[in-house]
Amino acid sequence: MALKVLILGVNGFIGNHLTESILENEDWEVFGMDLGDDKIKGLLQNPRFHFVEGDITINYEWISYHIRKCDVVLPLVAIATPATYVTHPLRVFELDFEANLHIIRKVVQYKKRLIFPSTSEVYGMCQDKAFNEETSSLVVGPINKQRWIYSCSKQLIDRVVYAYGAQEELSYTLFRPFNFIGPKLDTINEQKEGSSRSIAQFISDILYRGEIKLVNGGTQHRCFTYISDGIDALVRIIRNQDGCASQRIFNIGNPTNDVSVKELAERVVALAQNYPKIADLAKKVKITPVSAEDYYGPSYQDASFRVPSIENAQKYLGWTPKVSLEEALRRTLDFYFA
Ligand code: UDP
Repeated sequence: MALKVLILGVNGFIGNHLTESILENEDWEVFGMDLGDDKIKGLLQNPRFHFVEGDITINYEWISYHIRKCDVVLPLVAIATPATYVTHPLRVFELDFEANLHIIRKVVQYKKRLIFPSTSEVYGMCQDKAFNEETSSLVVGPINKQRWIYSCSKQLIDRVVYAYGAQEELSYTLFRPFNFIGPKLDTINEQKEGSSRSIAQFISDILYRGEIKLVNGGTQHRCFTYISDGIDALVRIIRNQDGCASQRIFNIGNPTNDVSVKELAERVVALAQNYPKIADLAKKVKITPVSAEDYYGPSYQDASFRVPSIENAQKYLGWTPKVSLEEALRRTLDFYFA
């Protein structure tokens, strides 16, 4: 019998790419819920895709029924945009923690497999050169730095899931995305500053504002991971050959795509000049340093670097990321402007 996969948040950045890949390459069935369907319009006719529009905080019965019906559950609904951590910290806690805990308990009750998105943010300001799932400390700032509510919400869920594994034999995999990028990350047509994650923000800055703002000068580093590499890892986790992913935590990131945010902005601007649709705007855009306080407000604090160890993913999943930063940026710009 074909595997039945339940994806909550199926229209999100990871959900839509994952569903597209599954329908194209596997014989699995996908059951999905989301508030919207703009990113999955092209998949709705597929007979192996069963979509319903709904809200995970309201449609408990549909979710409960489908957890029972499916083999694997991926609750991908979350707010994962740093600007929101400081403007709406309670919404982050209520959705990312409370709503998901409710779902996790159902997965435990029906003894299904759980694949849950942790985050590279859990490592916070850890000073390890490469973050390791088993040995690195998770380091966050004081309570008045509300940016860390996301990291803490995810960390506590990780600990609860781990405990369900230890005490009630829950079969789970926690995965930690390291700055996944690609088409359909956040909308690039958002007119409001600070509403998207860095790369989508920079593209929208070129289009609408003529100015890219570099928080604290953009000296902080991130490892950007192209979405198709992330999806490749997730498919291996779902496949779980010989139980290779069971009761494990995986960093999913590309340590070779390590750049400063300033360099990222400069590369996006340089590449954008090759696309006639935005070349003129890209030539004119200014890159300006701003303080974190001016950009996000006083309750923001940042991680200055974030490099994954991917030894576990390589060893247990046989996974290595393939897409370089240059190629990732090119494919993203191609999607919008080619
Ligand atoms: N950033 C920036 N300018 C922007 C948006 C983001 O300098 O317009 C910085 C942000 O402060 C962070 C980095 O870019 O240090 C990556 O931000 P992102 O929103 O992608 O998420 P994070 O990696 O912090 O979770």
